[in-house]
Amino acid sequence: MGLVAAIRGWIARVPGPAPRPRSPAPSLLPHDEPMMRRALALAQQAAAIGEVPIGAVVYETATGRILGEGYNRREIDRDPAAHAELIAIRAAAATLADWRLNACTLVVTLEPCIMCAGLIVNARVGRLIYGAKDPKAGATDSLFQLTRDGRLNHRVVPIAGVLEAECSAALKTFFRELRRKG
Ligand code: ZN
Repeated sequence: MGLVAAIRGWIARVPGPAPRPRSPAPSLLPHDEPMMRRALALAQQAAAIGEVPIGAVVYETATGRILGEGYNRREIDRDPAAHAELIAIRAAAATLADWRLNACTLVVTLEPCIMCAGLIVNARVGRLIYGAKDPKAGATDSLFQLTRDGRLNHRVVPIAGVLEAECSAALKTFFRELRRKG
């Protein structure tokens, strides 16, 4: 074997950097929109008891089985952490008896806040779908992009704007009524 061939052979055996798996752009699946309709129904339950109407559902991505649900209960529970996503995620973890939600999709009517975005990362939620953007507190697109920060060990690229008109109408109607009542 000539020297050139030997060098070529040696170069071929040197392991290069492992190809970084590229996360494909997320796309909608058939269960997503019906789950957002369910989240909207939960948001209406919140509105009915005077809470800001935000609803969330965690479901098994492959099957569409609902694992946890929640709606905003901050006032009634007097709990600053009683956000729809947090309640739904904890319920899903309890259903699965596992804190890892990689195989799950979280659907929520409003863009998650910093607390919920942190929880989504910590729970390793596999997919995230939300309706309306929250320009004042949104932490997955609007103010921060926490769930796709490359420094964190779990990432999820959100899909925004699913049933956005309905999701933001629920909030607008709620706040209009609130102002009307003074
Ligand atoms: Zn939140």
